Amino acid sequence: KQASYAALRGVEPFSRDGERIFVMMNAGLRDDIPMLNLSGADGIGLFRTEFQFLVSAALPQRERQTRLYREVLDAAGDKPVVFRTLDIGGDKSLPYLRKDGDSADENPAMGWRALRLALSREGLMKAQARSLLEATAGRTLNVMFPMVSEPWEFDAARNVFEQQLAMMKQRRRPLPECIRYGAMLEVPALAEMLDVLAPRLSFLSIGTNDLTQFLFAADRSNPRLAERYDWLSPAILRFVRRVIGSLAGHRIDLTVCGEMGGRRLEALALIGLGVRRLSITPAAVGPLKELVRKIDTREIAAAMERWLSEPVSDLRTQMIRWAEERDI
Ligand code: PEP
Ligand code: MG
Repeated sequence: KQASYAALRGVEPFSRDGERIFVMMNAGLRDDIPMLNLSGADGIGLFRTEFQFLVSAALPQRERQTRLYREVLDAAGDKPVVFRTLDIGGDKSLPYLRKDGDSADENPAMGWRALRLALSREGLMKAQARSLLEATAGRTLNVMFPMVSEPWEFDAARNVFEQQLAMMKQRRRPLPECIRYGAMLEVPALAEMLDVLAPRLSFLSIGTNDLTQFLFAADRSNPRLAERYDWLSPAILRFVRRVIGSLAGHRIDLTVCGEMGGRRLEALALIGLGVRRLSITPAAVGPLKELVRKIDTREIAAAMERWLSEPVSDLRTQMIRWAEERDI
């Protein structure tokens, strides 16, 4: 098996009916970078910048942030890298960030985290924006914001970058060649506002880890709830289908970047709904590339259409059978 995945490293994954599926990987630390070439991923679809902060004893200074981003880009070469701005706070809290008077979150996942924290700690966000802009001088910066709940939050975050960019211009500093701004869709409310937000986006990335916990009101880190919902539940799949429908007519790259996309049947279901870009854990890249080459996306799309119009109680069992019959 490992050998067959290795043989696929340099191969671009196309389905039997000629659809290119982009299989990217998630990363967050310097040590993850070699996996880009080892796994044969098409790029880094989610670089979790908070990891550097989580492993540091003190707030990483701008120079250290810039250095890490540059190293990632140098290692990635021609492959794209999507940097996600800090998703700290809540359960990923940093002792050196808390200031007197902050109260602890009772529901950390829904608390003062990610973009909410970054927008209220502007110094933090400015420093990160500056680091990302400097690290991508002469290249493309793909940056996305986590936990966007309303369009204005996206605008506010983009403004922080634009202000830093203006300052760099004034000082005649080298600038990125191109900046692409994206949002993560992990708070269900944002799905209702995509018609408003879409024209301002270059890309959207569905974070299925947080999205499912919010959709089902089920804590993603509580093992007692792990059996409570299934990623193959019609509610999640219909939700993704609706998001794809809302983006029709807009030129926006859509990626799914949660753990869901790294699982066989879940990836099949997403491809059946029209998803063409997945960003997954590096170990799942080889198996997914192999899977893509065995499928006909039209066939799986037709099956999904059937399954979601009259949902069966156990789609997983149905899909297992479907895949076995086709030797997938
Ligand atoms: C997600 O929520 O699906 C996601 C990709 O981000 P994280 O797992 O870092 O919250
Ligand atoms: Mg998330």
